[in-house]
Amino acid sequence: MLRIYNTLRRRVEEVATVEPGVARVYTCGPTVYRHAHIGNLRSYLMADWVRRALEHSGLRVLHVKNVTDVGHMRQEQLERGGDKVILAALAEGKTPREIADFYTQAFHRDEAKLNILPAHRYPKATEHVEAMVRVIERLVEKGYAYPAGGNVYFQVARYEPYGQLSGNVGGGLMEGIRVEADPLKRDPRDFTLWKGAEGGREMKWDSPWGEGFPGWHIECSAMSTQYLGEKQDIHTGGVDNIFPHHEGEIAQSEAAFGAGYSRCWVHGQHLLADGVKMAKSAGNEFILSDLEARGCDPLAFRYLCLTVKYRHRLNFTFNALKSAQRGLTRLRDRVWAWRRAGSHQVPDDDGRGEEWRRRFRAAVEDDLDLPTALSAAWGMVKSDLPEGRKLGLLLEMDGILGLDLAATPKDFSLPRETLDLIAEREVCRSRSLYEESDETRRRLERDGWRVRDTGEGPMTRPKTPLEVVEERWPAVSSPREVSSYVDSPSITEFSVVVTANDYVEDVKRCLEGLLQWSGDASLEVVAVDNGSTDGAAEWLEGLKDADPRVRVIHCDHRLGEAQAKNIGLTQSRGRVLVLLDASVEVTGPLLPILAAALKDHRVGVAGAWGIRSEDLRHFHEEVVSGEADAMQGYCFAFRRELLREVGLMRECFRFYRNLDLDFSFQFRSRGYRVLADGSLPLTRHEHRQWTALGEEEREQLSRRNFKRFLQRWGDRQDLLLSASKG
Ligand code: AMP
Ligand code: ZN
Repeated sequence: MLRIYNTLRRRVEEVATVEPGVARVYTCGPTVYRHAHIGNLRSYLMADWVRRALEHSGLRVLHVKNVTDVGHMRQEQLERGGDKVILAALAEGKTPREIADFYTQAFHRDEAKLNILPAHRYPKATEHVEAMVRVIERLVEKGYAYPAGGNVYFQVARYEPYGQLSGNVGGGLMEGIRVEADPLKRDPRDFTLWKGAEGGREMKWDSPWGEGFPGWHIECSAMSTQYLGEKQDIHTGGVDNIFPHHEGEIAQSEAAFGAGYSRCWVHGQHLLADGVKMAKSAGNEFILSDLEARGCDPLAFRYLCLTVKYRHRLNFTFNALKSAQRGLTRLRDRVWAWRRAGSHQVPDDDGRGEEWRRRFRAAVEDDLDLPTALSAAWGMVKSDLPEGRKLGLLLEMDGILGLDLAATPKDFSLPRETLDLIAEREVCRSRSLYEESDETRRRLERDGWRVRDTGEGPMTRPKTPLEVVEERWPAVSSPREVSSYVDSPSITEFSVVVTANDYVEDVKRCLEGLLQWSGDASLEVVAVDNGSTDGAAEWLEGLKDADPRVRVIHCDHRLGEAQAKNIGLTQSRGRVLVLLDASVEVTGPLLPILAAALKDHRVGVAGAWGIRSEDLRHFHEEVVSGEADAMQGYCFAFRRELLREVGLMRECFRFYRNLDLDFSFQFRSRGYRVLADGSLPLTRHEHRQWTALGEEEREQLSRRNFKRFLQRWGDRQDLLLSASKG
């Protein structure tokens, strides 16, 4: 039987169920106002493995996963009064219902792609408001909750064991300080069960306390007890759910229905991306389609999650994902080869496979130690068991791993001409005509086939998307993988660095204009393809082949803005380095004017659109002629040798905003002037990196970057022009 870490008791325990033979499992499901990101998906994968492990132990599992849809909101939002579903609907110009339906469908598709077994029920919050009202009524009757001003609050002080799950008893106080204290609450720790509808609100329901809508915690208490009863076995979520969500759920449920709501609480650790917490506001939030767009199979993400214990953080990188993809492909290749060789799944009648089976199960049952289970599976695959036996065992193990290896075809249907080529190659090989045979192989590979020669003859399958992607061109995952020319002498007069963050049309317009107007200037273009997936990468490759001045560096995913630019900076070898934004169009001979402005060695930065500030807090005043406090990133030129003095860009800036100011100040703080000339032959077009964002995102991203800027330069008023004049 599975033993697993129970957050409630802070120890690993054997799963015991209320009803023998049946496990009742509840998983806190998605909020459907956006796509689930891969961190969320990691949590659902964990729940899926818990379920598979229980089923493997012979239990019947009843699995319920809620969908938090329209009209509900996470507690923080509730306290502040904004509803993400509604905000998202407004932003997208759709109704909240449409938004929720769209993302609910997307969620089910993501789960299916990850081979997550569908829950037996996916109750939607909006369809269970009555049940929530009933639970709230009961809490009020029993004296655990009190209505106030159209709202209803849970009275934390009345429920003595509060804090048992998270150890957090004073957390509510913190909340009271952070969020504006709600005067209707008797105690800042009290949380909202029901919230009266403010005027003009669309999504609202009748209740004994007037029209309004329920809180988030109550949603899970009501729906889980409705479908799984008042005593359940396992409740899952990510670690961020522990407090306040699950703490609140326990309090409400046990206050309403008595002790023993859920025996075991299982929490998955977070997924980090590139070493930091994944968040939209950090620009490092990935969804499943981002992985697919880069040639990885969703199941490779599942494989990756198998390689790290659920209680450990997983640092997601595209490099790690690609290794996982290769591991998965190797397993599939094995299954394919065994099946092709006519090995059928055979029963393990002499018990030689038993040892592998035992090892595998022991690892799974040991607090879901899937990394060890996976290596047991690999050990078995590489063992000397007969192939048919291995096939049977592997597919059995895959019942838990969930990599859908059974779907590996025995053979791939090959077109006639491919079959002919394979046959032709065999003839060459049998006559030892190796050159011809290699040539045929290359042709097959060019056509998209992967050929493996085995004892039983050649095996041919289509290349995996990742194999295709990786053959196209080399790609880097971080700036550390490119060598730096910062200390090397210049080999051209100019380097122009352009970063492509998708928006192929912009990249085209920018570079075509630049190249057309550069005449015979000694120029290199360093194009950084920042993980684009809209064809910009292909277009740049074409340009590079056609124009020897162009070099392209591909990133295998979207790096932070400063990281991508630093790749360009370190790869440049021009005397004058120009950063051009893809939204800018070059309409005349730009480079000589910039070079002339930089002749004056007191000038550090030259460009088109400068900016001024009186107080370092506001940068509203654009400067199109003469000295400025900072240069905007649309066109930003400097003598490359200065990089050694001022340093590269600060990579904590993942989003572009304020990065240009920050970089300008690196020059300003060393006494260099910043010179603007708005009459440069440039046209500014729509800046899609900005216009593509929603209002909330813009604000959040900007605020963070501004904070970074202020932290470093906030007390350097002296660097402003206004200081020297004043
Ligand atoms: P949410 O939609 O934010 O409620 O999250 C859905 C599920 O994903 C919850 O179980 C969260 O605890 C979990 N979760 C959120 N962020 C992450 C992350 N970065 N890594 C792993 N799980 C997460
Ligand atoms: Zn929940």
